[in-house]
Amino acid sequence: MAQHIMLTADRPTGKLHIGHYIGSLKSRVELQNNGEYQNFVMIADMQALTDNARNPEKIQNSLLQVALDYLAVGLDPNKSTIFVQSQIPALNELTMYYLDLVTLSRLERNPTVKTEIQQKQFGESVPAGFLIYPVSQTADITAFKADTVPVGDDQEPMMEQAREIVRAFNNTYQCSVLVEPQGYFPPKGQGRLPGLDGNAKMSKSLNNAIYLADSADELHRKVMQMYTDPHHIHVNDPGQVEGNTVFEYLDVFDPDQKHVAELKAQYQHGGLGDVTVKKYLEEVLDAVLAPIRNRRAEYAKDLGEVARMLQKGSAKANITANQTLEEVRAAVGVNYFD
Ligand code: ATP
Ligand code: MG
Repeated sequence: MAQHIMLTADRPTGKLHIGHYIGSLKSRVELQNNGEYQNFVMIADMQALTDNARNPEKIQNSLLQVALDYLAVGLDPNKSTIFVQSQIPALNELTMYYLDLVTLSRLERNPTVKTEIQQKQFGESVPAGFLIYPVSQTADITAFKADTVPVGDDQEPMMEQAREIVRAFNNTYQCSVLVEPQGYFPPKGQGRLPGLDGNAKMSKSLNNAIYLADSADELHRKVMQMYTDPHHIHVNDPGQVEGNTVFEYLDVFDPDQKHVAELKAQYQHGGLGDVTVKKYLEEVLDAVLAPIRNRRAEYAKDLGEVARMLQKGSAKANITANQTLEEVRAAVGVNYFD
């Protein structure tokens, strides 16, 4: 019997990239296979709509792409319930009860939401649904009573927000219906993979990503364009490894860290060219990505089957979410006619 419950999600705003892999997908597959977890993996299409309401095609087109990424990295529908947020009506009702337990100013203080509002250039026109998405995310997590949420570092404030809501709910209604979730973060330094352009975060919305679906040629092209040390012009110039994206990726992806240390020393001293290091990084990344890319291509041959997998997963997820909703309704006291 599983001792823990894991829930995690991705927004279907594009295909998944190697930042998702390092920040969350890799831990999910490990947790899925360790036997102590009941696993829920959600495609957060409602959350994606909060900043794409006028561009629903993007979400529709990304839904099966994200599902393919899941299957490609080894999420297994026989071991994990893989489902779609909009197909679980209970999540919306839970969100409404929770919204009454948070203040507007608390929502406005969320540092990740603040950064995203800037990045998305909403100005004064922040959609209300976007501002409250951490509350809806709390509904997603608590509907399944998840105690473990494998996520990247950008999600730390969301976990704190979720715990506050859980405590407020259980205190207010004098119950223990909801479970406090903990983030399950990757090892230090791997929780936020920078973008190819050196931007602090690789993101599907920032056009600076290596996708799990990228071909070997695309991988080559992207690695060759990567941001390095702009002052390292001649091979013999001493170069900087801090803030140098190529080395940051090697830190994360190369199992041979001794070799990475040697390369760094040589680069800092002078005498190691950017192209040489990039070629090496390309090999390291391809070793991780080639099997994922191949599996993805296999599953992509039958998209109907992928859609049916999501439909079945959603039916199963509804059963659990509806049970929690019943308990929440009883705790709040709106179960008048039971
Ligand atoms: P969007 O720009 O649409 O928000 P995103 O690239 O931020 O897309 P999400 O779907 O919001 O992706 O994030 C899904 C999961 O992947 C989260 O757990 C998040 O922490 C993790 N994640 C996303 N980008 C990175 C990254 N660059 N490094 C590590 N983890 C990441
Ligand atoms: Mg995001």
